[in-house]
Amino acid sequence: ITQLWAPLHFLGFVYREIKHSLADMERMFTLLNVGAEVDDHPAAQTLAAKQVAIRFDCIGFGYDAKRQILHDVSFDIPAGHTVAVVGASGAGKSTLSRLLFRFYDVGSGGIRFNGTDIRELTQDSLRAHIGIVPQDTVLFNDSIYYNIAYGRPGASREEVIEAAKSAHIHDFVMSLPDGYDTTVGERGLKLSGGEKQRVAIARTLLKNPPVLIFDEATSALDSRTEKAIQTELFDIAANRTTLIIAHRLSTIADADTIIVMEGGRIIERGHHRQLLTAGGRYAEMWRLQQESELVEG
Ligand code: ADP
Ligand code: MG
Repeated sequence: ITQLWAPLHFLGFVYREIKHSLADMERMFTLLNVGAEVDDHPAAQTLAAKQVAIRFDCIGFGYDAKRQILHDVSFDIPAGHTVAVVGASGAGKSTLSRLLFRFYDVGSGGIRFNGTDIRELTQDSLRAHIGIVPQDTVLFNDSIYYNIAYGRPGASREEVIEAAKSAHIHDFVMSLPDGYDTTVGERGLKLSGGEKQRVAIARTLLKNPPVLIFDEATSALDSRTEKAIQTELFDIAANRTTLIIAHRLSTIADADTIIVMEGGRIIERGHHRQLLTAGGRYAEMWRLQQESELVEG
């Protein structure tokens, strides 16, 4: 009986794992608002890089043929640098991050990782190099442990806890009666926006990718929590190639380059001081936000 039980038990385990990851993938795709999958090129190469330099080269893109969303977008993120993208809602900022993760293929031009078009890389290896901290963190209906460990299947318990400590969520987890076994998500403990973000940060730290995308990662938080988490995000971003899409401009003033988008086009670029001096759209957005922050207190 035990001889039969062991493999059955193992199969049950595998089945649960597979079901889990399929459900997760599905969930991720729905949440990230993406449609059709892209295919691997038959001769796709496996990317294995410690450092990644990214180039967006004359990108044109539309979700459907009738409406072009991005027009001739070109910029570089040198390895280890941070580029921030700002602009009104609907400008095409999140579209850039979806193309980078290759949820969609570009219509024209190309995105290059260390000189290689990402369409010539396997999706698995491309995505293994990228960590995303999104606006609304997805928590699976599972333990906090699972939600962090998901960042790198096969990580040891020590590594998971280490990541939680670095994301400043460990003490909070230990204060819960069931600790890391606490079920979170829709059917479990509801975490606050800040706590969810920290879980996402821990997940990303565990994954330890050379490329990071923060898509308005802190915009749902109050400004004090946002400041605290922003500092953590900048720590994580050090020495990694980072694309940060920001809502509040005060959070990205230190970026190596700031890109201002409007209607799917880059209309200004430079660093904070340069853009303020230029007195264009960025300077105007900055002035308006300073005023509203004074009103908010
Ligand atoms: P931002 O992040 O700057 O607010 P997005 O990149 O999300 O803007 O969207 C840019 C434009 O693309 C918007 O007009 C939006 O309506 C459109 N868009 C976004 N996602 C889709 C989609 N899945 N299908 C069709 N149009 C979309
Ligand atoms: Mg967006």
